[in-house]
Amino acid sequence: MSFRIGLGEDRHRLDEPGTGPLRIGGVDIPHDRGLVGHSDADVLLHAITDALLGAAGLPDIGQLFPNTSEENRGRDSADFLQLAYEKVKAEGYELVNLDCVIHMQEPKFAPHKEAIQIRIAELLGVSTQQVGLKAKTGEGVGPVGRGESIDARCVVFVEH
Ligand code: MG
Repeated sequence: MSFRIGLGEDRHRLDEPGTGPLRIGGVDIPHDRGLVGHSDADVLLHAITDALLGAAGLPDIGQLFPNTSEENRGRDSADFLQLAYEKVKAEGYELVNLDCVIHMQEPKFAPHKEAIQIRIAELLGVSTQQVGLKAKTGEGVGPVGRGESIDARCVVFVEH
């Protein structure tokens, strides 16, 4: 048996007021500002998708699902995640666990954490114990703290 790790990072800009809800980890969080992106801009699912692809040595999310393609305009990022994990499994790898950090000033992440954890586990066909999630605020400084962006990082561990 062999093991590999993967790392994924993403950042999306917060849109103007009146553009919510905010989609994070496949869940629509009530908020007056959404994220800007070619797809549905789900920053957390993008980070997880890239981490999984990286662990299997596959091309990254931008290569597989280009933001120049009409097919990907407004697309549900759950599709990216599930298609990417199919490719990872086709290479013989299975997820052991993943761990994510999301950086967002507003809204509070904690009330939505469980729903997001359940949704990610469901999309990947794994248990919620395999899905680690934590959140940090931007402490009022930098692009996250000023409410300009939401950032996400993810590491995954896979076994062959
Ligand atoms: Mg992205």
